[in-house]
Amino acid sequence: MSVQKACSRCGKPAFYFKPYSGEYLCKKCFVKSIYELTLKAIRKHQMIKYHDRIGIAVSGGKDSISLLYIIAKFFKDNEIVAITLDEGIEGYRNEAIMIVEDMVAKLNIKNVVYKYKDMFGYTVDDVQPIRKETSSCTICGIFRRRGLDMVAKELGLDVLLTAHNLDDLLQSYLIMLFNGDINKMMTFSPAVEASEAFGITKAHPLMYVYEKEMSMFTYLKGFKMQTVTCPYMNQGIRSEVREYLNRMEEEHPGIKYQMLNSFIRLRNANGSASGGFCKNCGWPARGGVCQVCKTVEKLNMNKLKV
Ligand SMILES: [Zn+2]
Ligand SMILES: [Zn+2]
Repeated sequence: MSVQKACSRCGKPAFYFKPYSGEYLCKKCFVKSIYELTLKAIRKHQMIKYHDRIGIAVSGGKDSISLLYIIAKFFKDNEIVAITLDEGIEGYRNEAIMIVEDMVAKLNIKNVVYKYKDMFGYTVDDVQPIRKETSSCTICGIFRRRGLDMVAKELGLDVLLTAHNLDDLLQSYLIMLFNGDINKMMTFSPAVEASEAFGITKAHPLMYVYEKEMSMFTYLKGFKMQTVTCPYMNQGIRSEVREYLNRMEEEHPGIKYQMLNSFIRLRNANGSASGGFCKNCGWPARGGVCQVCKTVEKLNMNKLKV
């Protein structure tokens, strides 16, 4: 990164170099480039239609706060709801809820908070002594996925946006590959996926934005975001995959985009995988009982044994 360089777009002093596009950018043009990448994803993959009622999953982290801001800025004609799920983790979620409340007030957006406890009978704190070998993140992820679908359905939304950036999506895909998680790989889509709640689509508008550039964007915009990390966070293999992908990108600028395109093509070739319905709750499931019911059942059994 050289400070003497001029912005490739406007000629003002540049502060950032995008190796994959060869562009030098000033602060203003950099911020604009993040808007462009987000809008490109939305248009190219038809994520949002005119009059769609939009739900945005908001955690209070840099990605979701930025997504909320960008969607509010460019989709003023759509109804937008920020959705926060409260996992019930003492001392963790409260800060985020305050940050989200602050942001939605500024943007004049509706905000809803739903609790895991009310939806599934357990908080993430509750499951710690009884989760046995299943990781906290696995259980939390299963609840989050269904929880967002439940909220979207209840509120009658058309589209649910989540703030996964390019790095998040690639990491998830590689982890599925390493774990041999074929079912998940077949239904995973970096752009738009069918939600388990019928008639609602799920989309990832930040799919083209590098994690590093997302951080830069948040910093330049001066957004407040969550500082407390989840006490149960178990990054496991994810941090290794993150480092590996970053090393690859450094050696081969643009390789992350190539990977993303491979996954999109694979997904298109595969079509949508379909399955049956859960005998228990009626939500979609591959093979009798859904992940949520299996998880809750296991927790109930473990609780009895304790
Ligand atoms: Zn510029
Ligand atoms: Zn079920």
